[in-house]
Amino acid sequence: EKDIEFLTANLDRYADFPKPGINFRDTFALFRNPVTYKKVIDIFTDHISKLGADVIVGLESRGFILGGAICYNLGIPFVPIRKKGKLPGKVVEFKYELEYGQDVFEIQEAAIKKGAKVVIVDDLIATGGSCMAAIELLKKVQAEVVECVVLVELTDLDWRSKVSTKTTSFIKIDS
Ligand code: IMP
Repeated sequence: EKDIEFLTANLDRYADFPKPGINFRDTFALFRNPVTYKKVIDIFTDHISKLGADVIVGLESRGFILGGAICYNLGIPFVPIRKKGKLPGKVVEFKYELEYGQDVFEIQEAAIKKGAKVVIVDDLIATGGSCMAAIELLKKVQAEVVECVVLVELTDLDWRSKVSTKTTSFIKIDS
């Protein structure tokens, strides 16, 4: 509880970024401070250690900073989901709708075995579009998504209607 309050207090906020009307929560503020970064990684590691995950999938790009360190602690593989065109070899893709337009997520086909138990990690869930797209992509490679674990949840946004997989967040704030 105390740790969560401390982390919440250290999360930076930028008004009108990247667009007018958006209150951007900057989780890099927690990653660049070794004290808060260690607390974040410890909280994620403790939670995910109980889930029996075979693999952690991190979402570009802050999910990489979390996922790598958690995988180091747990001794399990890290696999990235990236925006289109950045991963070599055979990839599987999933197109998803943004507020304006579309985006495409990709994963390397050989990176995930069929039936693997996967935990998705990212820094923040807002509309839920990114987590939903990651879940759909992992379905395409026949992985089993056990849980999505995010550092920050924006509680007043309706991400639950998009993300049906169990989702855990540690910091709960309004947008
Ligand atoms: P969603 O797809 O709308 O749930 O947005 C989540 C994705 O966008 C995550 O990968 C976040 O890193 C990023 N994102 C959206 N809003 C913010 C924010 O306020 N701070 C940091 N990242 C954000």
